[in-house]
Amino acid sequence: SKFSDLGLRAPILRAIEEGGYETMTPIQSQAIPQILEGKDLIGVAQTGTGKTAAFSLPIIQLLLKAEGQRTAKAARTLILAPTRELAVQISDNVRAYSKHLHLRSTLVYGGASEKPQIKSMQPGVDILIATPGRLLDLVDRGLINLRMVEFLVLDEADRMLDMGFIRDIKKIVAQLPKKRQTVLFSATMPKSVETLANSILINPVRVEV
Ligand code: AMP
Repeated sequence: SKFSDLGLRAPILRAIEEGGYETMTPIQSQAIPQILEGKDLIGVAQTGTGKTAAFSLPIIQLLLKAEGQRTAKAARTLILAPTRELAVQISDNVRAYSKHLHLRSTLVYGGASEKPQIKSMQPGVDILIATPGRLLDLVDRGLINLRMVEFLVLDEADRMLDMGFIRDIKKIVAQLPKKRQTVLFSATMPKSVETLANSILINPVRVEV
């Protein structure tokens, strides 16, 4: 199936075309229409399946329609990833898909100077991609506001739990509005991930590749 059948806005389709994508991958054709409909979703998919576009493209489209506005220090979308490397990859993808749009995105991760990260949050962002530890630190110090988040993505949830981020994730999610759309991607679905999913998603649809 083709990206052009999804009803995505022209600037998004143009970016997809410029990226050289023609047909959707299986996880994309299953997940994108559900996310566009506003549903919470669990995606069971490994890296390399096109999962990043599967959650990024519909959220970019929904951000254009949603009522929310950028607010100082606040994020409209929060994408949580286990590692700096993955966060950077997601950010590169999000920027490519939104290059013809006026959306602000930024990255927050540990092991790097926090000053530029704090500064980049000042005007507020449409999409924040973050690792849990550094994010929680900046939230606890009042430097990032998560009370306006409309869209939450947990990417590689199994890996985040393996790395011991469960407590940080719970504290982060406790800051978010209850009314939001949540998407969780994981390569595997052990009981620990099912339990987390049950506690933070509402009536999720499940797609698996
Ligand atoms: P991911 O699984 O999100 O890490 O994506 C794996 C790679 O596939 C990335 O380099 C993407 O840019 C690329 N990709 C994602 N979706 C498509 C698609 N529909 N057609 C071709 N390449 C894609």
